[in-house]
Amino acid sequence: MAWTVDDGASTDVVARYTQFAADSGTRLTFFLNGSYDSWAVNAPLLLPLVQSGQVQLGNHTWSHADLTELSDTGVVDELQRNHDFIEDTYGVDARPFFRPPFGYHDDRVDDLAAGIGYTVPTLWYGSLSDSGLITEAQVVEFATKWFLPQHIVIGRANFEPVCNVFPQLLALVAERGLQTVNLNDVFTSEAHP
Ligand SMILES: [Zn+2]
Repeated sequence: MAWTVDDGASTDVVARYTQFAADSGTRLTFFLNGSYDSWAVNAPLLLPLVQSGQVQLGNHTWSHADLTELSDTGVVDELQRNHDFIEDTYGVDARPFFRPPFGYHDDRVDDLAAGIGYTVPTLWYGSLSDSGLITEAQVVEFATKWFLPQHIVIGRANFEPVCNVFPQLLALVAERGLQTVNLNDVFTSEAHP
């Protein structure tokens, strides 16, 4: 199962997700927006996990823009600025995976993204549904529904409740015999042969 975590509106939630990964060995992919301070603030904690390959960073645009509403230049700028931030801060190349904010993309967006190496718009098959504030019990309920083999599951590093149920989520992974993977573990690409 690929456990992917988006945005990063909360510095504290990013820190707790990172500590969780460090403590549990869970492999994660963060689709981050560099416009949130959390990714610079937490870089010292996160950097060793990124450099070891346990945590992968993907491009979720700089400021969480709906790419389908932007000009061609705007689309490229949103992706390139975030790409450069990830490279400068973490020393890794996030290509070829980008996650279009809200899941909104079209042929024009995909062509523009591919033009700068982002050839894989990465959506999901299962969600913790925590883009808004939900309860801890709801997070566990959605995880129970979607933590399944060969699923890409999306969560967000925006609200606290998920952090308070990490033990329950980890128990689900164990009970179901799931192995967590990030995208580079499964797919090869030019940037990550
Ligand atoms: Zn998002």
